[in-house]
Amino acid sequence: MLLSWFSKIFKQKAYSKPKVSNSQKIHQALKFELEGNESFINLVEQNLDFLDEFSEIQKKEVMNVAIEAAICGQRSQAIAGLIQKLKPDMEKKELQLISQTCISKVQAAITQVRAERLGLDWCIWQTCQDQRTRASHHAMQGVAFQYSRKPEPEKIIGLLSIGCYGPGEALGCRCYAAPIVDADFEKYPLRVLINGKIETMGKRKFKKLVGNL
Ligand SMILES: [Zn+2]
Repeated sequence: MLLSWFSKIFKQKAYSKPKVSNSQKIHQALKFELEGNESFINLVEQNLDFLDEFSEIQKKEVMNVAIEAAICGQRSQAIAGLIQKLKPDMEKKELQLISQTCISKVQAAITQVRAERLGLDWCIWQTCQDQRTRASHHAMQGVAFQYSRKPEPEKIIGLLSIGCYGPGEALGCRCYAAPIVDADFEKYPLRVLINGKIETMGKRKFKKLVGNL
C-alpha cells in the first residue's frame, strides 16, 4: 500500500510554517484534502504497469515523489532525478516519458476524487488535439464517459485493448478529464460512450441518461 508511505509525507512536512505564501497555502490545503484518502491512493496504485522495471518499493518511492510534485505544482524533474538515481542506465527519453506519466496519473486521480466527492460521474475526454495525440485518444476527443465505466480507447477504434483507463492514465498520455457539472452547459449533439460504443445524442437524450445533473 502506498498509504503508509503517503502518510509519511504528511508527517515529514509540517503544515504550519511561520510565513506561507498563497500558493503554499493552496498546496497545504490540497495535501490536507488528499491525506489518507483511500480512493485517491487506490487510483494512483492502479495500473502501475508502466513502472514494471522497478521493484515494489521503488514504485512506491517514485509514486510518492510524483504525488508530492503534483500537489506542489512541480514539473516532472523531481521524479526524473529520483528515477535517474534508481535506474542510472535508463535512456533520457524513457526517463522523461515515465516521469511525465507519473505526474499526469496523479493529476488524473486528483481530478477524479474531487469529481466523485461532488457526485460527478460523467466527464468529457479532452486531448491536446495535436499531431502527437494517438489515434485511440483522438477518437475520444470530446466524448462523454463515466468514471465508473472507463473506456477501452484502443478497442473503440478496433485495436487490441490495453485495458480500461481514463485520460492522463496511459503511458505518455497528455489528455485530461473535464467533469460535467451541469449537462446544460455542454455542446450538443454530444458524443457519448455507452456500452463501449460512441453514440451521438442530443441534449434531451443525454439529460435523460444522466438524470439530475
Ligand atoms: Zn492521451
